[in-house]
Amino acid sequence: MSFNVQSLIDRDSALWQALRAWPKIELHRHLEGSIRLPTLIDVAHEYAIPLPAYSVEDLRPYVQMTGSDRPDFAVFLSKFDVLRQFYRSLPIIRRIAYEAVEDAAQDNVRYMELRFTPHALTRQNDYGYQEIIEGVCEAVQAAQAEHDIQVRLIVSVNRHESVEIAEQVLAAAIACAGCGIVGMDLAGKEVGFAAHAFRPVLHTAQENGLHLTVHAGEWEGAANVRHAIEAVGAERIGHGVRAIEDSTVIQLVRERGITLEVCPTSNLHTGVVPSLEQHPLADLAYLDVRTTINTDDPSLSNITLTDELVLAHLAMGLPLDLLKTNILNAAEAAFLPDDERAALVSRFRAALDAAPLP
Ligand SMILES: [Zn+2]
Repeated sequence: MSFNVQSLIDRDSALWQALRAWPKIELHRHLEGSIRLPTLIDVAHEYAIPLPAYSVEDLRPYVQMTGSDRPDFAVFLSKFDVLRQFYRSLPIIRRIAYEAVEDAAQDNVRYMELRFTPHALTRQNDYGYQEIIEGVCEAVQAAQAEHDIQVRLIVSVNRHESVEIAEQVLAAAIACAGCGIVGMDLAGKEVGFAAHAFRPVLHTAQENGLHLTVHAGEWEGAANVRHAIEAVGAERIGHGVRAIEDSTVIQLVRERGITLEVCPTSNLHTGVVPSLEQHPLADLAYLDVRTTINTDDPSLSNITLTDELVLAHLAMGLPLDLLKTNILNAAEAAFLPDDERAALVSRFRAALDAAPLP
């Protein structure tokens, strides 16, 4: 299996077309990894930001994983070096947020929880966290009004940054009532930065009605998944695929009804798995773990959610009925009030029952 997943994705195939037509749910997508390449070039011209190249194809290797890249965290993260220069103004951030929703809608994602990192979005400008959060929220609401998609937001904080930043981001998120923020995410470097220090701020988030998801079991092993659940109180785990390394952690995930936000292509690109065939998504699904399929950073990985479903079927061995189960798992794990979640589940169950097979 080539590291280059593009060779497996035939957008003219009956399979791709059928899966694109399915209504889909995305629970784990980062705004900062969802920027269109033409938008980068536009913004670079407008704000005189130096780029290594000014055509989409020439720029691609600097901001996307390509077949010639070494699958590795450092290589993956290096792609953000160019991207993080772009948050110069609120109009740019709004445009990126609007387009991220538009792109998802065009892929027939009908419910999405889009996460963003307010601290990262303030580094190139003088805005406060609240202005950034309100700006993203307004853009997302504008995009929702014009497309057939429902979007909720998750604020991300990094465990390799300070707890004070997390506290300030949380305060801004709580102040933004009506912004559609439904959760908080602990992301960042898993190695060497324990999640435990963030427990008080994350607990405060939960007390204020926000749900909690934690990146774990990606860069580090199953013990981190256990820690995120038992010590930090995570309701969902970002990635979590390395739970498979310890059956007691698998049991814990199952007993607590924890949902894993699995991002297969991202795992391939960062070297978590050596190939998609060796990805544990199907094993986890057969072990009755509640898995979902997500893109993580669709622009960075040059992937759509439809592409991920195609890869899960063709390369990871998930039958079509289990693809539907993964979408329903996502509906059942949505960070929505109980009545709205129940409505989402029944809407998706009916739509997927009627969804055509290739
Ligand atoms: Zn992520």
